[in-house]
Amino acid sequence: SIQISGRVEQIKPSATITVSMQAMALQAEGRDIVSLGFGEPDFDTPEHVKEAAIQAIRDGQTKYTPVDGTPELKQAIIGKFRRDNDLDYEPGQILVSNGAKQSLFNLLLALLDPDDEVIVPAPYWVSYPDMAKLADAQPAILTGGPEHDYKITARQLGNSINDHTRLLILNSPSNPTGKVYSRDEYREIGDVLAEHPKVFIACDDIYEHIYWGEAPFCTLLNACPELADRTLVVNGVSKAYAMTGWRIGYAAGPEALIRAMRKVQGQSTSCAGSVSQAAAVAALNGPQDCVAEMRDAFRERYEYFSAALNDIPGVECPSCDGAFYAFPSFQGVIDALEPLRDDVDLAGWLLEEAGVSTVPGSAFGAPGHLRLSYAASMDYLEDAVSRIRKAIVTA
Ligand code: PLP
Repeated sequence: SIQISGRVEQIKPSATITVSMQAMALQAEGRDIVSLGFGEPDFDTPEHVKEAAIQAIRDGQTKYTPVDGTPELKQAIIGKFRRDNDLDYEPGQILVSNGAKQSLFNLLLALLDPDDEVIVPAPYWVSYPDMAKLADAQPAILTGGPEHDYKITARQLGNSINDHTRLLILNSPSNPTGKVYSRDEYREIGDVLAEHPKVFIACDDIYEHIYWGEAPFCTLLNACPELADRTLVVNGVSKAYAMTGWRIGYAAGPEALIRAMRKVQGQSTSCAGSVSQAAAVAALNGPQDCVAEMRDAFRERYEYFSAALNDIPGVECPSCDGAFYAFPSFQGVIDALEPLRDDVDLAGWLLEEAGVSTVPGSAFGAPGHLRLSYAASMDYLEDAVSRIRKAIVTA
């Protein structure tokens, strides 16, 4: 048999994939499955973005681009940071990649040495801990409990930083909780970070535009501009413009770090796709009303879906201000139903009994919960809720 590297062997197959494989197997048997496991907008990419890509193909923009992205896209990104975030960057501070996922991967490879620790607040996006391990570093999970809105506190952060801590990854609005850090919370976190100048910060703002909180969206650097020389802002067009398959993400930060990340990318994928980059220029520079329309639709679904889930006995669905996931506690259901030991059992049971596929919370470091995506039509969500309710109340 082939001997796989220790680096890769330590990565467990994700629970997300296990559940979606179970769902696919049932579908192949002809079962009608409602799938709430996905992580992408159900909307189509806006027409003017598609047109720009078609035009780019016609114009022959089909070759390698510079590793860090086309000058047009880098300018569009600089313009976006100015317009949306009140942040100023030079072209040397921007790197375009194949999705925000690659931006983060570049960062971890460029920054981390063996024995370094990465603070990952839980509930976390599934990829952060495994990416840290693939970079030969250690994830240090810091749990933000329901009593703190699933966010970490400044005090918790202060207590967990040690001599090995090299990086803190923040994600707001959060996948999976949809929770958002306020300016004050960021300020308090910044005060702790001021005492630890060796700690670098990655701010994953990918859900920035899928946000309906009362206060304007705030990224860490708005609250703590003094952290600019050790903060990398990560964002992309996947979620805001329904462009997941185009694979365009970007990072902005200190020039020396961007240069190192560019080196990593130069030896792995070279550049992001040229046609996709042209499409991203149209997305960032074009009319922005499509972004607001999609956000309003997500908000409407959120309001329906979280209330309907809360109405099911044993389910507690916290409020949230963004992204497109409900992340309720199902602990009451797990406790009430004899054969179920945990959220992984529950996800399997809901798939069998209700024909609904979800993702167990333990995949995100939050046992007892399920993640249910609401990037789906209202009819679809109503069907899902009635199936879940029926399975639980008749069990
Ligand atoms: N960050 C978070 C929190 C995400 O949920 C995702 C996608 O699911 C990404 C980053 C990566 O997005 P992409 O690589 O499509 O830009």
